[in-house]
Amino acid sequence: MGKGFFHVPVAVNEPVKSYEPGSPEREEVLLTYKDLYNTKMEVPLYIGDKQIKTGNTATMHPPHDHKHDLGVYHKADKKHVQQAIDSALEARKEWANLEWEQRAAVFLKAADLIAGPYRARINAATMIGQSKNIYQAEIDAACELCDFLRFNVEYMSQIYDEQPESSEGNWNRVEYRPLEGFVYAITPFNFTAIAGNLPSSAALMGNVAIWKPSDSQVFSAQIIMEVFREAGLPDGVINMIMGDPVMITDILLDSPDFAGIHFTGSTTVFKSLWGMIGSRIDKYKTYPRIVGETGGKDFIVAHPTANPKQVATAISRGAFEYQGQKCSAASRVYIPKSMWADVKDYVAEDLSSFKMGSPEDMGNFINAVIHEGAFDKLAGYIDRAKKDKDAEVVIGGGYDKSKGYFIEPTVILTTDPKYVTMETELFGPIVTVYVYDDKNFSEKKWEDLLELVDNTSIYGLTGAVISGDRYAATKATKMLQNAAGNFYINDKPTGAVVGQQPFGGARASGTNDKAGSKQNLLRWISPRLIKETFVTPTDYRYPFLGE
Ligand code: NAD
Repeated sequence: MGKGFFHVPVAVNEPVKSYEPGSPEREEVLLTYKDLYNTKMEVPLYIGDKQIKTGNTATMHPPHDHKHDLGVYHKADKKHVQQAIDSALEARKEWANLEWEQRAAVFLKAADLIAGPYRARINAATMIGQSKNIYQAEIDAACELCDFLRFNVEYMSQIYDEQPESSEGNWNRVEYRPLEGFVYAITPFNFTAIAGNLPSSAALMGNVAIWKPSDSQVFSAQIIMEVFREAGLPDGVINMIMGDPVMITDILLDSPDFAGIHFTGSTTVFKSLWGMIGSRIDKYKTYPRIVGETGGKDFIVAHPTANPKQVATAISRGAFEYQGQKCSAASRVYIPKSMWADVKDYVAEDLSSFKMGSPEDMGNFINAVIHEGAFDKLAGYIDRAKKDKDAEVVIGGGYDKSKGYFIEPTVILTTDPKYVTMETELFGPIVTVYVYDDKNFSEKKWEDLLELVDNTSIYGLTGAVISGDRYAATKATKMLQNAAGNFYINDKPTGAVVGQQPFGGARASGTNDKAGSKQNLLRWISPRLIKETFVTPTDYRYPFLGE
């Protein structure tokens, strides 16, 4: 920025469209869905200025119709991974030195492309490839990705604006350099917005990135690359490669120029990455930044003063939207005995009204789980709960993978608050309820319950208290301060919005660098202080040395 202190457009959340019957957006997305569904897509590797078709391919299928062929993506071998490093470092020479407003303009344009001409395409791809209903696709692929891009630009300008004081005779300036090397972005299947955000947030701050999307999200990842390219992102700034994650990661983490990892996914994978980085620390030119948002075992705890209908709605929405495949999805619930019968009836009523099937039929609230591995794992936990003495499937429990990977929204009731499904992240449409005795309820009993909630899982991502009693809600807020990075009072624990509820958890849930916030962007820069002195001293002697 040589010739002006530019202000960025004020970020506002992208409005969520309704897709109600007869609306133009509904018609457009359904037409685009048909078109994408019936055209075979071929996704290349994006390395520098090349789109590489390696010939080593994997076929893509919609989870709700797994025999249908959507086309292929190409997989990298070792030499492509090395090419991605070389291309990124080459692109860095110009990108890292480009004026910030030019970088901002690229990503603001990307947001406007998603909000406008690409909206139907990115939503339809997310509906097909990740099996999301239109509402879930809209709040993710269109709105949240726009929000990440626009708010990050605003946060970047706030960061750049933070400057040190200067004293008489000199001028202190801080410039927020990108990291020296490349950033490796590894993204999960469940949010198109996260997939777009992890490489682009680092790139916005002047970094170059190598992005490895999840095998199960490549279909919409292709649209993200189309958008970035149309927005004018120079070649090599974000390189997208698919293939064996172990091989790709081994090569990238072996490079002396590896400068940071931006990961979202499961806890086990993140811990193994951290271990690899630690054991190779002597190889790197700089200390790599390690940012990871990982698993959760998110809770709802209802106080006896809660409204049972509100508790039930928090469960129906919080546990089952997008088939429970949100890191924030409620998966363990604590309900007082006096309320359980009502809550169970309300939830059963909600669940019996859920329709399940393809997202193309907009009447379906529930779609398929992501792949066969997830389906088999979830079916296994349901079978186990049907057999175990201390658990019982009280609602749902059916599953069928003949056409798509469909798991019926399921409620397990357990008498053991440490039952396996109260502790383990399942990542599917299964919620486990523990009913506590609220006879002669006291403050001490509430505290004991909160301690149980706090100690039950290794995670600390999201959680909610529902209470009509202010003191009880306050106690929960205090006692559960380390149990959730995003804590909700009288609400469901899902649905964080960029700019409003910065998202991330602690404990085994991640480094809590809050995606879509200033804190996150700070991880992708290495500030340099420049002190300039106007009248440079010519004598080393200080006055105190005088006679
Ligand atoms: P995953 O861990 O299976 O995969 C995530 C990414 O890691 C994918 O790109 C995958 O290919 C890659 N990967 C897998 N094994 C790897 C290895 N050995 N080395 C390097 N990369 C490897 O997770 P998923 O199933 O895609 O996503 C679900 C998980 O993500 C859940 O645990 C969920 O809680 C978590 N998640 C967390 C947040 C959050 O903000 N905390 C958000 C979304 C998802």
